[in-house]
Amino acid sequence: MVTIASKSNTEPADLIALKGHLPLIGLTGGIGSGKTTVSDLLKGLGAGIIDTDLIAHQITAPGGIAIPLIEKEFGQDYLEPSGALNRAKMRALVFAQPEARKRLEQITHPLIRQETIKEALKSAKSGAPYLVFVVPLLIESTSWQGLLDHIAVVDCPEETQIDRVMQRNKLSRAEVLQILGAQAKRQDRIAQADTVLHNHGDLEALSAEVHDLHQKIVGITKV
Ligand code: ADP
Repeated sequence: MVTIASKSNTEPADLIALKGHLPLIGLTGGIGSGKTTVSDLLKGLGAGIIDTDLIAHQITAPGGIAIPLIEKEFGQDYLEPSGALNRAKMRALVFAQPEARKRLEQITHPLIRQETIKEALKSAKSGAPYLVFVVPLLIESTSWQGLLDHIAVVDCPEETQIDRVMQRNKLSRAEVLQILGAQAKRQDRIAQADTVLHNHGDLEALSAEVHDLHQKIVGITKV
């Protein structure tokens, strides 16, 4: 069980307050590489999982904390009748207008950070042996530098990524290529990895690699 000091009762301590208390692991990889599959396996082994992509979806789901701010900034046109963010419409806008992406991120990034901190503290306090932060753009971002004890990268050939995402998200090849083009290159990601999880085979092979990673992390006694 971890006791973490908070700056005040209302403001959660920043993630850095967790450093040294338990291993902090970053898990990244390109879209469709297998991050969610790996994090589900690690969760089964007892890891505390904080999935920033899931948080991004939650805050933009009906009733999500980002929705009123998005409505104010972009108008009701960018919401679904359910009250959720209209993802297809927003995706088209931010690909066409980098300035719109900035405005959207100014709303979502602080909220994702806030929820990430909340979930991390909750997991740590509930006794998770280590925390895994699933961050799609970990390599591209500077805000995780200095925090993580270990970076795990899920890797697979680009063609496998494209096939998986076309199938999972019902996107065209061109749409998937557009997303891939905005992400770090495979080799740049691998260059920053402490561990590479190879996900070009079946789920059994991936599971064996995940077990090895788990053993390595629980073996980190001094972080
Ligand atoms: P990410 O979270 O990185 O976008 P996912 O874990 O969601 O990727 O994987 C993308 C898709 O590919 C999912 O539908 C998942 O079930 C499937 N998938 C992932 N790894 C494998 C594998 N080794 N064999 C078969 N399907 C896989």
